[in-house]
Amino acid sequence: MTTADIATPVYLDPRHPVADRIADLLSRMTVEEKVGQMLQLDARDDVEEQVLRQHVGSILHASPERIALAHELVAQTRLRIPLLVGEDCIHGHSFFEGATIYPTQLGMAASWDADLLERVARATAEEVAPTGVHWTFSPVLCIARDLRWGRVNETFGEDPFLIGELASAMVRGYQGDGPGDESAILATAKHFAGYSETQGGRDASEADLSPRKLRSWFLPPFERVAKEGCRTFMLGYQTTDGVPITINDWLLNDVLRGEWGYTGTLITDWDNVGRMVWEQRVQPDHMHAAAAAVKAGNDMIMTTPGFFRGALEAIERGMLAESDLDRAVSRILLLKFEFGLFEDPRRPDAERIAESVGSAAHASLNLEAARRSLVLLRNDGLLPLLDGRAADASGRALPEGTPRRVAVIGPLADDAQTQLGDWAGNSGQADWLPEGHPRAMITTVVDGLRDTVPADWAVEHAEGARILTLEEDPAGAFFPDGQPRPQIVVPCEPDAALIAEAAAAASRADVAVVVVGDRIELVGEGRSTATLELVGDQVALLDAVAATGTPFVVVLLASKPLVLPPSADRASALLWAANPGMQGGRAIAEVLLGLVEPSGRLPISFAEHAGQQPTYYNQIRGQHGNRYADLTQRPAHAFGEGLTYTTVSYDELRVRDAELGPDGVVRATVRVTNTGARPAREVVQAYVRDEVTSVSWADRELKAFRLVDLEPGESRVVSIEVPVAACTLVDARGNRIVEPGAFELLVGPSSRDEVLLAAPFTVVAS
Ligand code: BGC
Repeated sequence: MTTADIATPVYLDPRHPVADRIADLLSRMTVEEKVGQMLQLDARDDVEEQVLRQHVGSILHASPERIALAHELVAQTRLRIPLLVGEDCIHGHSFFEGATIYPTQLGMAASWDADLLERVARATAEEVAPTGVHWTFSPVLCIARDLRWGRVNETFGEDPFLIGELASAMVRGYQGDGPGDESAILATAKHFAGYSETQGGRDASEADLSPRKLRSWFLPPFERVAKEGCRTFMLGYQTTDGVPITINDWLLNDVLRGEWGYTGTLITDWDNVGRMVWEQRVQPDHMHAAAAAVKAGNDMIMTTPGFFRGALEAIERGMLAESDLDRAVSRILLLKFEFGLFEDPRRPDAERIAESVGSAAHASLNLEAARRSLVLLRNDGLLPLLDGRAADASGRALPEGTPRRVAVIGPLADDAQTQLGDWAGNSGQADWLPEGHPRAMITTVVDGLRDTVPADWAVEHAEGARILTLEEDPAGAFFPDGQPRPQIVVPCEPDAALIAEAAAAASRADVAVVVVGDRIELVGEGRSTATLELVGDQVALLDAVAATGTPFVVVLLASKPLVLPPSADRASALLWAANPGMQGGRAIAEVLLGLVEPSGRLPISFAEHAGQQPTYYNQIRGQHGNRYADLTQRPAHAFGEGLTYTTVSYDELRVRDAELGPDGVVRATVRVTNTGARPAREVVQAYVRDEVTSVSWADRELKAFRLVDLEPGESRVVSIEVPVAACTLVDARGNRIVEPGAFELLVGPSSRDEVLLAAPFTVVAS
């Protein structure tokens, strides 16, 4: 053994097994250092205080300058424990200037393409890792329920199976080849669990969920990624049955750690420990709250600076033992050792940043994701514009090849930053990008059309409307925890001059493309909406365009499904673009023109009216009646729907073995035929209906889907497999089981009962 060996502590020597290094480091840490190691603080505050005096284990929301500073500060600490740097890189490297911003999670979910999402997550990790960020707080596995909730855009939509498929893919993409991979970052499954079960769409109201309801719909995607090795889980803000998630012993310990055997790291959401004191008022002070949070099994405490003093006091008073901290601290250190941060803290690497961030390869992947995120919801044949019905303003057919005049109208037609949606650029969470992402990286709908229409076409733009202004909330600009309180939205009154200008542009044009939707001020945390209607003077604008008689297309550039006014029914076509990212404008233009086929399918249902909430397809059967006195319950557009520029027929659904044991697999085939003149990417969807159940249950649930490319006239026999073990329900005792008996396999182009073919099968007891 050399002198150097003797001098090097075990924890700093990579030749030792990780368990020994953790034990050695723990034995050297003071109680303050242990409490600090459990803290993740907001790097927009005083990083020096955080690193040198609060001994933080992790920081978030750190600008590149702050990351560099934090590394310098760590070098001054006694034990030089590297930091974990976390960030919400939820559709791209959100707050790194010039990074690739993809469509939102809900937009990408419309592709129904797990492989695509895995590639997006991988490309995101390749941009994130070289910038010194180790951990992304993504993906979101919350199941969308009430559409008025401000965070619907962050979800994969309303179906637990689809959520599981896509979340699993993103976790794989982020985590790459594991901790040794220099481009791997930690993924986070959030928000555990039930946060999206709102009341009236309000953010983090009591989530009124029985354990059985949780097990039925909310937990399955989390269970999947927990078992597949997602390294971190984050809580939400909700309380359930009176218990804040932060101290929900049943969910955190019995279910997550116990039943699922999860060994990863658990982080609270923002100031959850403080919220138990000042918001939920179920703990008298930070000392009690800290003790309760540690005992419940939380490893990392996000942005509760008072946890530091609170936990130390709890130890002094005997409410916590120092050893209670060791379990949590060990889990955090395990991540740091496995990532090799003690040897290489993965500081920002200028060369790799230049190669990877905003690269051309990522831009082209982003364009693919944007194209695939668009959902065509209506089309009377006007689209695609390049070979659709050609007509002038008075309805006379135009000869082939006549140049087109296109009026691009609306407040969102040329609003680059809004197009990116929440968690990107200047959406409000990062203060170091006041102007958002570089304008030149973003194509708006106006840019997209100008760049892609034939040379002899003319594109004219008119803003037409302004959506909203903001006012300070009389309750004050900040919440009690110091977080900014969202300002109040004041819808704009119709502006006669803007509307007249837009109507004139529409009148001059052969076709109007009207881009309406929502803005960041109507989206996100604490920004649920009471209605789903278009805000401000957008309705008056649509009315005015419809009144011109010029054929028009509505592009709904909206973070979530909205309800459109009656004048929108007069539009020839409707295309939904859920914040489509930097390449969104180009992708929209390509689809409108027909340079690219529309292929998205709804991962979430659209309501006819906000009062229909919730509108998700997989509701429990057995309601007394099935409509409102004044409205049907039919969604405007149902889960799974989405048109192409062709037609596809389904027939010959055949189930191979109509009788199966519990270990069997339902193997079926269906013939799909492209009966139109253009290619299609069809999403063949397979649902299962359990005919008679011991408890009330959803009438049908998605169990499999296949993406199939079909040339015009092509017919393909598509095989579908559903394991019997997936044909489950949750019984009255809360156990997920398969009940032998009669089932139906339903196959077709959407969740609507009337478009599904049905084939019976029977499950027999073993
Ligand atoms: C959100 C999380 C997010 C965290 C850090 C919280 O307010 O609920 O989704 O990861 O902030 O930004």
